[in-house]
Amino acid sequence: MEPRSAAAAGKDFPYTARTTCYVEVHEDGTVTHGGGHAAYERAVAGKSRLFAVWPGEWSSHLFVIDDLDEYAKAHGIKHDEERTGLKEHVHDVQWEPNPYGESSPRSPYLSVSVTLDCGCEIHDLRTFAAQMKAQQGWDVATSGGWGSSGAPGGKREYSLRVRRRSLTG
Ligand SMILES: [Zn+2]
Repeated sequence: MEPRSAAAAGKDFPYTARTTCYVEVHEDGTVTHGGGHAAYERAVAGKSRLFAVWPGEWSSHLFVIDDLDEYAKAHGIKHDEERTGLKEHVHDVQWEPNPYGESSPRSPYLSVSVTLDCGCEIHDLRTFAAQMKAQQGWDVATSGGWGSSGAPGGKREYSLRVRRRSLTG
């Protein structure tokens, strides 16, 4: 069976779907299962080749991961501005306690309303949380609800939960 090209499938390729299984073929012919960061490094170095099995409804297809850049972006190994909506810079963040947020005074988390003056948008909360941890020391809750509001094309307002103590720094 000739493997298909994941690169040809572009952004539609389900790199991170739970049903996508990765197979790594090493230089010596050994076959191991699973992708991840180490597998990516080996593939980039030419020490192995990565394949993915994409189970279809009627049959499974074998794909060769021939766009390692796209693979790395999908898995968060490389920063992806398009997927996350976030530039790799220090964000210009405005925030205030969210008056409509449900945060009990006893909760370690405070509901805050956040706007980004730098033009970024939050499409991926985990990436934003990691950036804010590094930039301002914020502990942004990544489990549970978060949301955004605002007119299309206008500035978006995000409602997030941040650990109180990390806000006052
Ligand atoms: Zn930004």
